[in-house]
Amino acid sequence: MAKTKASDTKKAVEATAVETPKKTVKPVASGEKKDVSIEDKLRALYRLQGIDSEIDRIRTIRGELPLEVQDLEDEVVGLETRIGNFSEEVNALEDQVLAKKNQIKDAQALIAKYTEQQGKVRNNREYDSLTKEIEFQGLEIQLAEKKMKEFRVQIEQKNVFVDKAKNDLEERKADLAAKKAELDDIIAETQKDEDKLIGKSEAAYAIIEPRLQYAYKRLRGNARNGLAVVTVTRDACGGCFNQIPPQRQLDIRTRKKIIVCEYCGRVLVDAEIETTDAVLEAAV
Ligand SMILES: [Zn+2]
Repeated sequence: MAKTKASDTKKAVEATAVETPKKTVKPVASGEKKDVSIEDKLRALYRLQGIDSEIDRIRTIRGELPLEVQDLEDEVVGLETRIGNFSEEVNALEDQVLAKKNQIKDAQALIAKYTEQQGKVRNNREYDSLTKEIEFQGLEIQLAEKKMKEFRVQIEQKNVFVDKAKNDLEERKADLAAKKAELDDIIAETQKDEDKLIGKSEAAYAIIEPRLQYAYKRLRGNARNGLAVVTVTRDACGGCFNQIPPQRQLDIRTRKKIIVCEYCGRVLVDAEIETTDAVLEAAV
C-alpha cells in the first residue's frame, strides 16, 4: 500500500513539473485559433443559437406532458392510499359489528338461562332478581343493536367514499396510461433528433472562445425565449425589437466586430450570415 502511495506522489510531482513551464507559454485553446476571424466567430455563435433553438422547439413539443404525467402518478398514489385507509376503517367497523353481534348472542343466551331458572325458583325474591337480570340483558341487547346500527351507517358512508375513490382511481389510471403513451410517442419521435442536436450543440459550443461561451450561456439563461444571438430584422433587434441605427447596422453587416444590442445585450448578426454545417465542420 505504502509503495503505491509513494509512486503516486512521484507521479503527481512529475505532473506538476511538466505542467509548470507550460504556464509561461500562452495556452492555445481550441476557440482561440489564430485563423478564426470575427466573421467565423459570429457564424459559429449564430449556428450554435440555431441548434439550441431547435432543441428548445423539440422540448416545447413535449411541453407540459412530463409534468402532467407526474401529477397523475401522484394522484393515483394518493387515491390508492386513501382507498387503503378507508378499507381499513371499514374492516375495523365490521369487526365492531361482529363484536356487538356476539354480545347480543351472549345476552340472549343469558336471558334464556335466567328464564329457565325462573321456572325452578323457590321464592319471589329469587324470581324478581332473575327478572331484573333479564331486563338488564334486554337493555344490553338494545344498546348493542343501536351501536351496530351506527356502525353500519358509518360503514355505508365509508363505502360510498371508497366507491367514489375507486371510480376516480380508474379514471386517473386511464388518463395516466393515455398521457404516458402520448409522451412515450413524442419522446420516441424526438429523442433521436434531440440527442443528435445536443451533440451538434456541444461541438458548436466547444469551438467558441471561453469569453463568448460565457456570454452566450448567460444571455440564453436570462432570455425567456432562449435567444442569445439574433439577426437584425426590419431595422430592429430580433430579440427585443428595439430599432438599430443605420450606422450600427452597417457595422454589423461588415462582421468585423462582435456587436451586441444596446438594449438587451444580445449578439447581433446580419440576416444574410450563412450558418451551414461546413463552418462548424471546418472549425472542429
Ligand atoms: Zn435587443
